[in-house]
Amino acid sequence: MTRLTYPHYDDRCGFNALLPPRSPRPCAQGDIAADYAVIGAGYTGLTAARRLGQLQPDARIVLIEATEVGEGSSGRNSGFASPRDLPAGATASDRERAETLNRFTEEGWAWLMEQVEAHKIDCALQASGRIKAAATALGAEQVHALHRAVQAAGLPHQFLDQAALEERIGTSYYQCGLYTHEGFLLDPAALIRGLAEALPPNVTLYEKTPLLSMQRKGQWYLETPSAQITAPTVIMATNAAIRHFGYLRDRLVTIYTYAALTDPLGLADAAQLGSMPVWGLLPSHRLGTTVRRFGPDRLMVRSLYAHERPVPFEDVKATLLSCFHRRYPALRHIGLEHVWGGTTALTLNGAPWWGRVAEGLYTSAGCNGAGIVKGSVLGKRLAEHSAGHGSQQDVTASWGTAKWVAPEPFRSIGFNFIAARERRLAGLET
Ligand SMILES: Cc1cc2nc3c(=O)[nH]c(=O)nc-3n(C[C@H](O)[C@H](O)[C@H](O)COP(=O)(O)OP(=O)(O)OC[C@H]3O[C@@H](n4cnc5c(N)ncnc54)[C@H](O)[C@@H]3O)c2cc1C
Repeated sequence: MTRLTYPHYDDRCGFNALLPPRSPRPCAQGDIAADYAVIGAGYTGLTAARRLGQLQPDARIVLIEATEVGEGSSGRNSGFASPRDLPAGATASDRERAETLNRFTEEGWAWLMEQVEAHKIDCALQASGRIKAAATALGAEQVHALHRAVQAAGLPHQFLDQAALEERIGTSYYQCGLYTHEGFLLDPAALIRGLAEALPPNVTLYEKTPLLSMQRKGQWYLETPSAQITAPTVIMATNAAIRHFGYLRDRLVTIYTYAALTDPLGLADAAQLGSMPVWGLLPSHRLGTTVRRFGPDRLMVRSLYAHERPVPFEDVKATLLSCFHRRYPALRHIGLEHVWGGTTALTLNGAPWWGRVAEGLYTSAGCNGAGIVKGSVLGKRLAEHSAGHGSQQDVTASWGTAKWVAPEPFRSIGFNFIAARERRLAGLET
């Protein structure tokens, strides 16, 4: 049996399933010589391939994707994206740090928007702002701390008490929330499909083409099930899956998390979702549940975290249904039409691993759950770096770099201990 070198999912991504059928590009066959090989067609890989295509219009660039575009995590996420992040605290240094990173995220966002506009990518993009909400006293403290930080930064916002929140989103589940204007909601599967269609002519995308092994003998030799690709330079944009090839095992951790879309709601039920036609709500605890409206008649819920191994499907379904029904008890007759999981790569200190890993091998990994915009800018900068523009320091001086993580079994013991403690603290935020 072939070794599995990429995240494999038994379930279909709900956002992708709701889009019209799409035929994947053919898989790679035979001997292929390229100047650059990019592995993984998520936000990081598509951006890197596109940027290389722009910088070197005569170069042959090959992009391989193990699954189909839209079925990787880049299509499986919740679709929250923001050109700017809020400061983590109320001090001047918190604001300065946020500003430094925001210069990068603004670059990533501008890059994405340029393509969305130029190629008319219909990805249900909406300037929604976002709500950070609390269902517990501890969560409320977090919301108040964020309130102080946005006040200190002079950012527009609205503090919402329980009644104000219920009026806007149709549930009295939360004690309070903070609405800030930064932030967009989009259909991630539609966006990633659109980006794949917009690649420059010198980039060839192959789907259903997992990289199985790689070795360097003067240049890189890449084995896939039915092709051998040679290239002097490889960009690994597989997030934590780079560990299958022996790299960054002591820096990256794979976390599974899960999402679901409800059945479509009838008019009367949809009217119970509050006065805001578009909203996205983030929990005040990191293990909490994300909720958003999707289109006029559905909700999406995202919850659950598991370390390295997927959660059994029936448990996922029951948990997500409970998250939805606890928040909307009047909609207990509504079920979940699509339930799916995805992976994200975490690092101990939240910084990505970015840059040159070995001769002719570059990677950006460790999205820490926010890769739509981050993947876009880090993929773009990685392409520039691999093509001789800019240095590793340009990025790592601002973002830092992923810290060492203990090997197994200490890693799992540590994760399970922290997760159990955090779940207790999260309480009703889950
Ligand atoms: C349920 C969920 C909700 C999330 N919500 C959000 C959100 O709201 N906003 C946000 O910004 N982020 C969110 N994220 C995180 C986001 O999806 C990731 O940060 C993003 O997908 C990272 O992009 P990437 O291109 O670096 O990696 P990926 O999207 O993981 O892309 C890597 C690609 O490489 C391919 N690959 C892997 N191994 C191989 C191989 N051996 N050969 C060939 N191809 C390979 C994979 O199939 C995949 O398509 C969420 C994630 C999940 C799972």
